[in-house]
Amino acid sequence: MTRFEDELRNNNFVCSYCMKCQHFVWPTSEFCNKCLGNIVWKQVSRNAKLVEVSSADGKYFCIAEFEGHIRVFGSLLGNHTKHNKNLTLEKCNYDERPQFVFKTR
Ligand SMILES: [Zn+2]
Repeated sequence: MTRFEDELRNNNFVCSYCMKCQHFVWPTSEFCNKCLGNIVWKQVSRNAKLVEVSSADGKYFCIAEFEGHIRVFGSLLGNHTKHNKNLTLEKCNYDERPQFVFKTR
């Protein structure tokens, strides 16, 4: 089990981060994808932008973007209006794959 998965289970979204390049390495990796240096695990902001939304069986799903480039697939709670692109990460978990639940702000 990776640190990433472990933290997700505790409702904590962390991503690999390169101190030297000052950017998040996504998908998570043990090494920076630019300089191949070591990474640290850094907390990702709970605020995300809505990239795309879809619905199936009365439920909403979305692609959300954190920190300008970390894109994840998740589910979207509540009343959704197309005009509101600001999301808050309500809950995350890991069960065979990462799970993200968002709420509009
Ligand atoms: Zn780097």
